Amino acid sequence: MTNDTEQPRRAAVVTGSNRGIGRAVALDLARAGFDVCVNCSSERSLPAAQELASQIEDECGVRALAIAANVAESDEAHALVEAAYRAFGRVDVLVNNAGITRDGLLARMKEEDFDAVIDVNLKGTFNCCKAAAQRMCKQRYGRIVNMSSVVGVSGNAGQANYAASKAGVIGLTKAISRELAGRNVTANAVAPGFIATDMTDALSEKQQQAITERIAMKRLGEAEDVAALVRFLASEEAGYITGQVICVDGGMSL
Ligand code: NAP
Repeated sequence: MTNDTEQPRRAAVVTGSNRGIGRAVALDLARAGFDVCVNCSSERSLPAAQELASQIEDECGVRALAIAANVAESDEAHALVEAAYRAFGRVDVLVNNAGITRDGLLARMKEEDFDAVIDVNLKGTFNCCKAAAQRMCKQRYGRIVNMSSVVGVSGNAGQANYAASKAGVIGLTKAISRELAGRNVTANAVAPGFIATDMTDALSEKQQQAITERIAMKRLGEAEDVAALVRFLASEEAGYITGQVICVDGGMSL
């Protein structure tokens, strides 16, 4: 399994990549020459994931596979990483992108909404990091990129669960970056601001306008803006960057 330069072709797992930011990341990595494992949460969204995997193989000349796995379940997260390893023979890059929101003010937030967001965003990231780190440490090479949010740094009214999960992702990333550095495995967090996807489509026009006012560039970002940074952090050139949180937010957090 070698490319033109006889280097092993790198392989990436991107969670939550059938749509939104994850889809842009999967495509960008494939265009950069990575084999890519596309993931979605359930069988219901598998057709979209399979369609993207076919598009990647057709357009980019790399290998791709589509796996439905709920990252909040440790056995499914483990199976996802192992499926990629079996297909590609390596797991060089893990992008923990899968995420959900269940917004509401503290007084009205249901316990199950708090738990659901923590389970997917934070525990899902932990589950996949744990599974991939085993392979990466054996390879003595790895790049982990965890999707946080500016909200995890600054907080946001109505998002106690989401902000806590994304702040947790930052702490998790910093802790594992220290643990894995000696094995040539980096771990960094990306903190997007407001990016135009299904997630932000759910906000009212009034909310979107209020948010846009707070962005120095006066516009929402595109999924591709985030993907470009992820691609760099996933590259060999980024090997001396670890434990960092980098915002992609059009100056929102200035
Ligand atoms: P999105 O359009 O809502 O897509 C979410 C993705 O996550 C989908 O592919 C979804 O798969 C997947 N997913 C959800 N639960 C999952 C689970 N339990 N297991 C596996 N996959 C699961 O979201 P997005 O806007 O692209 O956001 C992607 C990431 O960036 C999230 O972590 C989000 O918190 C973060 N982020 C987004 C923004 C923004 O403005 N959009 C800002 C900051 C951070 P299904 O289709 O199968 O449900």
